[in-house]
Amino acid sequence: MRRAIADAELGDDVFAEDPSVNRLQELAAEMMGKEAGLFVSSGTQGNLVAMLSHCQRGDEVMCGDQAHTLLYEAGGAWAVGGFGLRTVRNDSRGRLDAGELRATIRPDDEHFPRTGLICLENTHNRCGGAVLSEEDLSSVRDIADQHGIPIHVDGARIFNAAVALGIPASRLADYSDSITFCLSKGLGAPIGSVLCGSRDFIKRARRARKVLGGGMRQAGIIAAAGIYALENMVERLADDHENARVAAVGLREIPGITLTPSPQTNLVYFTVEGRDAEKMVAALEERGVICFDESGRIRWVTRYGIEREDIEEALVHLSAIVRDGA
Ligand SMILES: *Cc1c(COP(=O)(O)O)cnc(C)c1O
Repeated sequence: MRRAIADAELGDDVFAEDPSVNRLQELAAEMMGKEAGLFVSSGTQGNLVAMLSHCQRGDEVMCGDQAHTLLYEAGGAWAVGGFGLRTVRNDSRGRLDAGELRATIRPDDEHFPRTGLICLENTHNRCGGAVLSEEDLSSVRDIADQHGIPIHVDGARIFNAAVALGIPASRLADYSDSITFCLSKGLGAPIGSVLCGSRDFIKRARRARKVLGGGMRQAGIIAAAGIYALENMVERLADDHENARVAAVGLREIPGITLTPSPQTNLVYFTVEGRDAEKMVAALEERGVICFDESGRIRWVTRYGIEREDIEEALVHLSAIVRDGA
């Protein structure tokens, strides 16, 4: 990847003249089965650009009550877009409650804000890396079509979903009008996400990205890493899922540990009965196991560079901390 960065052919992407960025966008669009792609600085920027390109000020954007867009994107939808985020309950598998979604979509009436967009998240971060299947997506698509509302998928980890289901990501993207995915995180690139959709949509999105200061000049220097990631880092996500499964098997053997929930992909969330997650995370860090305290749950993430032996070592440290107290 470092070599691909060094060798990248560059141009000015503000004029759409960077060959590396153009190639990345074409490759991403092809992998998502969409007409066009747009390189953005982050998943957060991609989701906001998508909202700005689908919606008008004052519109409501429907999303799950556990959505990354709602909780971890600094309120950009409200602050920058002038949208209201209207939430629908997420079940433990990251799905939106269909009845609640139907009931919450606004009728066409001048008294109400317009429902401008439905946002889904696949895989679902706070719901434990849960995968939305084609069946899950198709039922939301039906509701969206009945009301003529577009769907955007926050697919930060869409390739984890695709690999877990053993199908191409394009099959999952097919149920949405637009999708963002991260080149960083599991795919290992240092920077960037790609937003994909129709040619017209991406034309609007280019303007929205510009508004947010996301027009970058010789961005091929980072796009090259993204191309490398798409060509070399997707299939190996299966190893991360296998390591997460190994972690889950080991965790179940430690007394007091509950998986919240059982992992489907590369995110492993758990609690330790009667123990404070923040203190546990600090004790693990002292022993070289770096992880995350997420509102009382501990989150382990498997990724490139973390091997099965590392998982086993982490389990040994965790067992010792649980046994001896932290
Ligand atoms: C990480 C993540 C994003 C985007 O995050 P950035 O740090 O802005 O790239 C969006 N959605 C989900 C579900 C994520 O996990």
